[in-house]
Amino acid sequence: MTPTPNLNIVPFVSVENMMDLVLAVGVETFLVELAAYVEEDFRRWESFDKTARIASHSPDGVIELMPTSDGKLYGFKYVNGHPKNTRTGRQTVTAFGVLADVDSGYPLLFSEMTILTALRTAATSAVAAKYLAPKGARTMALIGNGAQSEFQAIAFKALLGIDRLRLYDIDRQATERCRRNLEGMGFSVLSCSSPEEAVEGADIVTTATADKQNATILTDNMIGSSVHINAVGGDCPGKTELHRDILLRSDIFVEYPPQTRIEGEIQQLDADHPITELWQVVTGAATGRSSAAQVTLFDSVGFATEDFSALRYVRDQLVGSDRFQSLDLVADPDEPRDLFGMLLRRARLTATA
Ligand code: NAD
Repeated sequence: MTPTPNLNIVPFVSVENMMDLVLAVGVETFLVELAAYVEEDFRRWESFDKTARIASHSPDGVIELMPTSDGKLYGFKYVNGHPKNTRTGRQTVTAFGVLADVDSGYPLLFSEMTILTALRTAATSAVAAKYLAPKGARTMALIGNGAQSEFQAIAFKALLGIDRLRLYDIDRQATERCRRNLEGMGFSVLSCSSPEEAVEGADIVTTATADKQNATILTDNMIGSSVHINAVGGDCPGKTELHRDILLRSDIFVEYPPQTRIEGEIQQLDADHPITELWQVVTGAATGRSSAAQVTLFDSVGFATEDFSALRYVRDQLVGSDRFQSLDLVADPDEPRDLFGMLLRRARLTATA
């Protein structure tokens, strides 16, 4: 089967099919290949339509739409962020997305993106770290051991060779679950009892906590020199993870400045504080890590092109596979303008059935 046997039937990748796809490819291989797609799209950054995501805020969370297009394909993701959801057995982040054909406007793919978001966020973090982390980095502190955490760990192992993890979460059970889930995957894992202990000797510090406030997961005294910070959890106005003093001491790399200035750690800084765009580092137009002692910070918020890359990757994986369902999503009257006639024919059909 091919993913688009009929333009009116849209391939839909369910959660179950996404899991089977990821497992068939292998989580590490999936992350490596997805990272290549993310990097390829960063390399052709200037060919994308870009806009800061459209966010609808509420007291406990946010719902966002993230659109982009490269002129041939159009993609968007629906995603939420509700840190308190885990208290009622629901996830902080869920998502789904669509890829469409720009020429006709017809959808080409509809997919779950909760798992895919965790994968693309980890792949993007690892792409950034490839250019920014200290050479020979092997140890990563991972603070916030929720849904994103194992994906981050595996991406950093696959793309950078990180094999020592120092875990910390305010919820000890989260750390234990993360440690258990990563067993047998080639990591040496230490569960830490404070964030200070977690960052000791770490070459890379990843923060992926969820709290709808200006939190201070890392203070300036916790970060020495020669460190790369991968700050994933601060991604909304009023939702940050780092003390401002760390930002003032770091060289800061971002995805799309108009979005990150609103949502990222840099919302704490003046609007003209110098930052570097990641795509420029990827293309060689800007320098990534320039000295061993430098503190680099990837102020990750997640950008639409990364979801576009992920949907593109999944669509390519579906060729020759049956890991999708066919959705009757687009109305298809025999005569394109006879939409009402189609409804009448349906009425006759159901009346005689
Ligand atoms: P989650 O709720 O599953 O996990 C968050 C974890 O952080 C929980 O285990 C919680 O106990 C822990 N935590 C909260 N406050 C803490 C603190 N002060 N110190 C240590 N641990 C703390 O959430 P998730 O799906 O793993 O997402 C993590 C964060 O990443 C969220 O804020 C989410 O919005 C963000 N996120 C960002 C991107 C991106 O592209 N940058 C993508 C997806 C998710």
